[in-house]
Amino acid sequence: MTASVESPAAGSTARETFASLNPATGEEIARYPVHTAEEVGEAVARARVGAAWWSALSPGERKRRLGAWAGVIAREREALCRLMHEENGKPRDDAFLEVLLSLEQLTWAAGHAGRVLRRRRVSSGMAMANQAASVEYVPLGVVGVVGPWNYPMFTPMGSIGYALAAGNAVVFKPSEYTPGVGVWLADAFARANPDATSGVFEVVTGLGATGAALCASGVDKIAFTGSARTGRKVMAACAENLTPVLMECGGKDALIVADGADIKAAVDGTLWGAMANSGQTCVGIERVYVVKGLETAFLTELKSAAAKLKTGSAHPDRVYGPMTMPSQVDVVRRHVEDAVAKGATAVVGGVDSIKEPFIDPIVLVDAPEDSAAVCEETFGPTVTVRTVADVDEAVALANATPYGLAASVYAGGARRGIDIARRLRTGMVSVNAVIAYAGIPALPFGGVGESGFGRTHGADGLKEFTRAQSVTRKRFNAPLDPTTFNRSQSTMKFLDRYVATKFGRK
Ligand code: NAD
Repeated sequence: MTASVESPAAGSTARETFASLNPATGEEIARYPVHTAEEVGEAVARARVGAAWWSALSPGERKRRLGAWAGVIAREREALCRLMHEENGKPRDDAFLEVLLSLEQLTWAAGHAGRVLRRRRVSSGMAMANQAASVEYVPLGVVGVVGPWNYPMFTPMGSIGYALAAGNAVVFKPSEYTPGVGVWLADAFARANPDATSGVFEVVTGLGATGAALCASGVDKIAFTGSARTGRKVMAACAENLTPVLMECGGKDALIVADGADIKAAVDGTLWGAMANSGQTCVGIERVYVVKGLETAFLTELKSAAAKLKTGSAHPDRVYGPMTMPSQVDVVRRHVEDAVAKGATAVVGGVDSIKEPFIDPIVLVDAPEDSAAVCEETFGPTVTVRTVADVDEAVALANATPYGLAASVYAGGARRGIDIARRLRTGMVSVNAVIAYAGIPALPFGGVGESGFGRTHGADGLKEFTRAQSVTRKRFNAPLDPTTFNRSQSTMKFLDRYVATKFGRK
C-alpha cells in the first residue's frame, strides 16, 4: 500500500492520499486522505467535545442512539456487504455474517452497559464499618481504535461499539486495506444521529504513521487489533504518555480431535476454521492434533471435503476469495515450502495451489513442530495435521506456542470436551464447534501471551473502556478510629487483639 500526493488545485495545498484496491482485480475502488498528525490531533480535539456531550447522556439514551445506528446498518446492509466484498475480497455472504454478528454485539453492549457499569454498593468490612462504599465504572473519555483489514467491521466494532456504549467518544483508524468500511460506519452513525454533537465517532484514514499519530495523541486508551509486531510499536508509543492499551493480536489456534469425536463435524469445523476468509482469521484453525486411531478416518474425510471447496471471487459457489494483502501470499508460500522441505506431506494442494491472489486449500501432514507452518501465524488457507499418542500430547503441543488466542476441541461426551478445554492456555475455546464464542456477545473475547491482553465483548469488554471509581461516604463517627492523630492507645490495643485473634490463630 503506497500513498501518493495529488496535484493541488490552484490556491490549495497538496493533499496526500492513498488508494483502496480490490484485492481480486487490483482495481482502485476509491482514494482516501492520509491524515497527518495535526489532523489526528484535530479529530481527537473534536472527540473531546463529543465525549463531554455523549458521556452526559443516560445509558438509556445512548442505547436508543446506538440502536438507531444499528437500524441504519441493518437497512443498508447490502451496500456495506458490497463494500466489504470489494475491499477485503470476502464473499458477500461472509460479509453479511460479519454485519449480523457486529449488530448482535453492538445491541448487546448498548443494552447491558447501564446494568454492568452502574454504581453498586459493596461491603465495607469490619474495620471500615462506619463507611458506605460503592464502585462505579466511569467512561475514560476518548478511545482510539486501530483496526485490521481481515474483519474490517466485526473486529473494530468489538472496541468501537463497547467503548461508545460505555460512554466514550471514539477516534477510529481503519486499516489502509479497508478504509472505506471505517468511513461508511462513521457516516452511518452520523446519519442515524443527525442531532448529535459532532465528535462522538470520528474516523481518520491513512497508513501506519496515522495510527502511530493516534497512539501519540493523548487519547485515554488505545484499542489495537493487528499483528503482535505492530502491537509492540503501539505499546512503545503509548508508553510515552502512559496511555493504557488493549491488545488483540494474532494467533496459532489448534483444534484437537479426541476419542469419541464426531469425525464429520470435526472435519467441517477444521475446514471452516482454517479456510474461511482465505484463512485470514485471527482465531482461524492453523494446527490440528488428532489422537491416534482416528487419523485415517479424519484425513480421508478431510481430503474428500477439501476437494469440493472452490476458491474465487464473484461467483456465489466460491467459498472464499483472494488474499487481501498481497505480501501475505509470500508468507504462505514460505511456510508451505519450509514444511515440505522439512518432511511434511501436502495431502491436499501444495505450493502449486498458490495462484496469486488466490490460494486453494492446502493441508500439510506431519509438518515438524519447529517448522514455520507450525510455529508462526500463517494467515492463509492452510492447516497442519499431526497424529498424537493421546490427549496429553495434544494439549502439550497445542500449548507449545507463544500465542494463546483460542482453540477448538472435538470429543465425545460433554464433560470430556470441557475438561480438555480447561487445560488449554488460551482466552477462548469452543467444544464440538469452531469460533462459536465470537458470536456470543456475553462472552469476553481476547487472548494471552503474543495474542495480546485485555478483552472486548461481554461485561469485561464494557469495563475495558472505563475506569473503576471507588467512593466511600462516612456514615457515622467510628467508636474506634485509627486514622486520626487523635487515636487513643486503647483503640490501638483493641485493634492489636483483633489482628491476633482474627489472623494470627494457628
Ligand atoms: P497490522 O499490525 O499490520 O496493522 C493493524 C493496524 O495497525 C493497521 O490499521 C495499521 O495501519 C496500523 N499500524 C501500522 N503501524 C502502526 C504503528 N506504528 N502505530 C500504530 N498503528 C499502526 O495488522 P493487519 O495486517 O492489519 O491485521 C492482521 C493481524 O491482525 C493478524 O496478526 C491477525 O491475527 C490480527 N487480528 C487479531 C484479532 C484479534 O481480535 N485478536 C482480530 C483480527 C486480526
